[in-house]
Amino acid sequence: MSHVKKSFGELDVLKDISLNVEEGEVVAIIGPSGSGKSTLLRCATLLETMDEGSLTYCGQNAAVNENGRSRYASKKELHDIKENFGLVFQNFNLFPHYSVLKNITDAPVHVQKRDRDEVTAEAKKLLAKVGLEGRESSYPWQLSGGQQQRVAIARALAMNPKMLFFDEPTSALDPEITAGILKLMRQLASEKMTMVIVTHEISFARNVADRVIFMDGGVIVEEGTPEDVIDNPKSERTRAFLQKIE
Ligand code: ATP
Ligand code: MG
Repeated sequence: MSHVKKSFGELDVLKDISLNVEEGEVVAIIGPSGSGKSTLLRCATLLETMDEGSLTYCGQNAAVNENGRSRYASKKELHDIKENFGLVFQNFNLFPHYSVLKNITDAPVHVQKRDRDEVTAEAKKLLAKVGLEGRESSYPWQLSGGQQQRVAIARALAMNPKMLFFDEPTSALDPEITAGILKLMRQLASEKMTMVIVTHEISFARNVADRVIFMDGGVIVEEGTPEDVIDNPKSERTRAFLQKIE
């Protein structure tokens, strides 16, 4: 994304944000509450429209900047572009009235029009991968928060995305449960899944991210390797933020 701006009424939430993610890269976005992290993720994943700026996935334009406004591609093109990525939210967002299996297979079968048997077999493998083997007939309310987040990750992976976006995937979870989810995300990173992760887990960002971005007040204040941004921040704002949360 390039030169992205977004306001809600009088409030300028994103002020000229440019961000390019390489294949296989893990990018962690940190920053105080209200700094625009979720809005950035929502704009990048087409859940929210940008006012100004462009957005490209694998050379395909989702939006181009035209006379200071974002002009979006057609519905059909955006549908195809959405195939590139999966999303995992803080509150899991599973369908409560669907079984675990249906939560995972619904979009691959109905959106991607893939073969149900093939998708079901793959979903079972994914459940094993996320540590929930055999739980396909459970319902979300029968699972713990950590287990629900594992299902959400399996659901995102079932679409065979090129990249995954996470918005504070562990902030609704206990520390112990969080560790398990972070381990799973670290495994995805080691398998070279491209990931953009908004997180308050600074040690996870330090250990897993290739690049850390510190946002404040709708701008990228500082970005670089974890060593640069977390261990040797240049900006006073970054330093103050890190001191507060560590
Ligand atoms: P947190 O760490 O608390 O999740 P954040 O960095 O994700 O914060 P955003 O959710 O992106 O912050 O919000 C940035 C600002 O934009 C906040 O002031 C918020 O109130 C405002 N905002 C976000 N979404 C909307 C909306 N749909 N309508 C109006 N204001 C909004
Ligand atoms: Mg947020």
